[in-house]
Amino acid sequence: MCRSDDHPRKPGGEKRPGHRLHVLRTGTYLHTYCPLCDANLIQGDWIVFEIQAGDRIGELRLSPRFNVFDKESTIPLAAGTELDDMRCPRCHESMINPRVICERCRSKTVRIRIAAVHLDIHLNVCVRLGCFWHGLSQRDRARLILEE
Ligand SMILES: [Zn+2]
Ligand SMILES: [Zn+2]
Repeated sequence: MCRSDDHPRKPGGEKRPGHRLHVLRTGTYLHTYCPLCDANLIQGDWIVFEIQAGDRIGELRLSPRFNVFDKESTIPLAAGTELDDMRCPRCHESMINPRVICERCRSKTVRIRIAAVHLDIHLNVCVRLGCFWHGLSQRDRARLILEE
């Protein structure tokens, strides 16, 4: 079997000088996927993760709206708790990104894949509850601004 390429790159590329930088606005709905197995992490109105804090394992649900910090957890978690792990509920692989630590509180971060209209990026998210820091990969910083 040969691999098909649905999006062949045009010779010369798409890049034009002065192309518009996208701004990711507060409230934007984030279609969220596992960066490892590409599972859709949205269930109902939540992004769902498997989490571990010490020896406790549960489920954490976060709002899929950018900069909206509603959450639910099946295990009680005090604000400021740094989760030990956040995993994909489908492939159960850890999403911890060992190369990126939170720029605000130095906690671990997880890498998730989000897609919005005309957008497909990797977002690094702090795993400390209540911190809310999130940052773009170096690659994506060149083409996107996060609204604070
Ligand atoms: Zn997965
Ligand atoms: Zn943090």
